[in-house]
Amino acid sequence: MAYFRPEIERMQGYVPGEQPQGGKFIKLNTNENPYPASPAVKQAIGAVLERGLARYPDPLGGAFRRRAGEVLGVDPDWILCGNGSDDILTIVTRALVGEHEWLRLPYPSYILYKTLGQLQGASAEEVAFERDWSLSEKFAAPRADLKLAFLPNPNSPSGTILRPERILELAERLPCPLLVDEAYADFAEWNCLSLVARSEKIMVSRTLSKSYALAGLRFGFLVAQPQLIREFVKVKDSYNVDALAIAGATAAIDDQAWLAANRAQILKTRGRLAEGMRRLGFATVESQANFVWNPHPEVPLRPLYEQLKANGILVRYMDYSGWGDGLRISVGTDDQIDACLTLLKTMI
Ligand SMILES: *Cc1c(COP(=O)(O)O)cnc(C)c1O
Repeated sequence: MAYFRPEIERMQGYVPGEQPQGGKFIKLNTNENPYPASPAVKQAIGAVLERGLARYPDPLGGAFRRRAGEVLGVDPDWILCGNGSDDILTIVTRALVGEHEWLRLPYPSYILYKTLGQLQGASAEEVAFERDWSLSEKFAAPRADLKLAFLPNPNSPSGTILRPERILELAERLPCPLLVDEAYADFAEWNCLSLVARSEKIMVSRTLSKSYALAGLRFGFLVAQPQLIREFVKVKDSYNVDALAIAGATAAIDDQAWLAANRAQILKTRGRLAEGMRRLGFATVESQANFVWNPHPEVPLRPLYEQLKANGILVRYMDYSGWGDGLRISVGTDDQIDACLTLLKTMI
């Protein structure tokens, strides 16, 4: 076909984790929350449906910006709403990175960043994490036409986290803005939100998909200084968040008691999962997210993934060149984790 831009024909396209429809799997492969969202979400969405969907939604999701601003201690005009945080990453990339320019990301991390660069006709430079999952100065090195750096913190697949002071150092040296992807920050001991006021170059993205149990709703947001937000608004779809999502997300972020209780439960189960995996001989990495990364020094892991799947348990198998492979297992309910550990025990 001669219809497509060459960069589109050349690229692989991002492949998300398996999303089998229907309930036959214990799903521990895409870091969804195993518990139902705050009941306030259903109520808020119901109220919108009652009023009807004939009108366009608020283009900027003002209700969410105001409530999230209060909860997070930032001004509403520092917040940009997105159709999932993937939409936020897309908007930021489209706004900052042009054809033949560069973006930077750590390796191994979230593969989507690279795909977003390819869509722009740009190139991606991957800077390898150190063996202890720290990040060297190379991540901040100058480079011609480097327009954007991505840093997931906590990182996926490792679940490890860098300290805010380290991230500020790297950002100050970088010749371009740094997007800190905090998809998992609600499960961590600290986050980088307060850095946004200290440096125009630091932006923080969040999602309601994981910690608020709303992956199906599609809602994420960016926190950045308002002079940046104003430029990103020019790039986004006019109505990138729908009326149901705005109402549901606003109710979710309003219910901080639900978040705290859910987080406490997930962290408890995460500890049990990590301990159980280590007992099976995995070199499980200490996690600050709602999943754990499990390499194994001896056992081949792809067959384990296949066998788990054949027995109705879906985890993520990943193989990173230069790094080896591992199983990334999401923190499910205690029962789900017990089922997974029990099955693994029979296989190893
Ligand atoms: C899940 C995830 C996202 C995307 O979240 P959505 O809001 O569902 O689009 C972004 N970044 C990382 C690192 C993730 O793991």
